[in-house]
Amino acid sequence: MMRIVIVGGSLAGLFAAGLLRKAGHDVQVYERSRAGLAGRGAGLVPQEEVFVALRALGLDDLATIGVMARERIFLDLDGTITGRVAAPQMQISWDHLYTGLRDVLSTSDYHVGRDAVQAGTEDSTAWVQFEDGTRVTADLVIGADGIGSTVRAAVIGTAQQATYTGYVAWRGLIPESALPDSAAQTLLDRFAFYTGNRSQALGYVVPGPNGELEPGMRRYNWVWYRRADDLQRTLADRTGQVHAFSLAPGQLSEPAKSDLRSAGSAQLPPQFHDALLAEPNPFVQAIFDYETPQMARGRLVLIGDSAFVARPHTAMGVAKAAGDALALTSALDEAPIEAALQRYQRARLRIGHAIVDFGRRLGTFME
Ligand SMILES: Cc1cc2nc3c(=O)[nH]c(=O)nc-3n(C[C@H](O)[C@H](O)[C@H](O)COP(=O)(O)OP(=O)(O)OC[C@H]3O[C@@H](n4cnc5c(N)ncnc54)[C@H](O)[C@@H]3O)c2cc1C
Repeated sequence: MMRIVIVGGSLAGLFAAGLLRKAGHDVQVYERSRAGLAGRGAGLVPQEEVFVALRALGLDDLATIGVMARERIFLDLDGTITGRVAAPQMQISWDHLYTGLRDVLSTSDYHVGRDAVQAGTEDSTAWVQFEDGTRVTADLVIGADGIGSTVRAAVIGTAQQATYTGYVAWRGLIPESALPDSAAQTLLDRFAFYTGNRSQALGYVVPGPNGELEPGMRRYNWVWYRRADDLQRTLADRTGQVHAFSLAPGQLSEPAKSDLRSAGSAQLPPQFHDALLAEPNPFVQAIFDYETPQMARGRLVLIGDSAFVARPHTAMGVAKAAGDALALTSALDEAPIEAALQRYQRARLRIGHAIVDFGRRLGTFME
């Protein structure tokens, strides 16, 4: 049994925590957010590794709480459906997945409000130092701390930041009943797209906040990719503070919200504009690329977005996180720790680069 510390308690951290605990290790998760992350995410399209990891955790049920879109439709600016493809696909809700994975751990193993400021590795241990000056030591420290990772610098030996792509994703998640009838008739139960000039909107139905699947109780998730040349201005919150990567629901200023709404009126099909208007608290995530040159050093290892950030067009961020957690767990099962980390790195570096590269190609229409 190893003592394992995970920095970051989002999906990558939770997949790893669940799988490593199941493999018999003592796992402690340290998450920066004070309140935990429930209610934070929106919708996501799960891929194969998500199902494999959930099955390994005995949480198959979580993967079945999804809404099927029976076809993809393509709209033009006046809202006419110009194309259809029969492509059934399931969408799940981020927060339902998060809560289900989170419940596997006891509260005493999931420490919130713990902001890691530095990490390191020496001989056969690794350590993490927190903002409050405390330090924990473990046999292995896993950096699952996302795009702005602190653990990354200790793994690669220098501070490296993700590269902004020039565009952002505006997002909303509304009760489906908040859509006016005309929009609901077109959008519900379909995966809808509109592609304009360096702009793309898409949307789909996801389960309700407690996993509800009955029509009327579900939620509509929309995303609008738009250029944002002045990122600092886009990521300034209602108090003027500039955030590094995103603004959460409720942080957008009123003037920015009305700018977004009037841009939507001119630049979106009426159905997507209705969905935008129905969201009282739109939020925004800037789109970045990042590829780590190295995933492991000594007793430190990176998983999920701390290692590779791929554009969301791939819909593979969560699958990549699950795949990293699965590969790390089985490597640790099969070999002594340093050899296991090298084996993990050999397997996952290649896949991480390939996914980021795929995302870059899918995103060229925005540049
Ligand atoms: C618009 C958009 C849509 C997306 N849609 C999809 C989709 O449909 N399907 C899909 O698979 N993926 C999607 N993704 C990608 C997906 O959200 C991420 O790839 C995935 O969540 C990676 O998880 P992670 O745990 O590695 O990182 P994150 O979710 O970023 O989590 C990092 C965690 O670490 C914590 N943390 C950070 N720093 C510290 C610190 N110093 N100390 C302690 N804790 C810290 C953070 O608070 C956070 O909880 C989308 C992304 C975007 C932007």
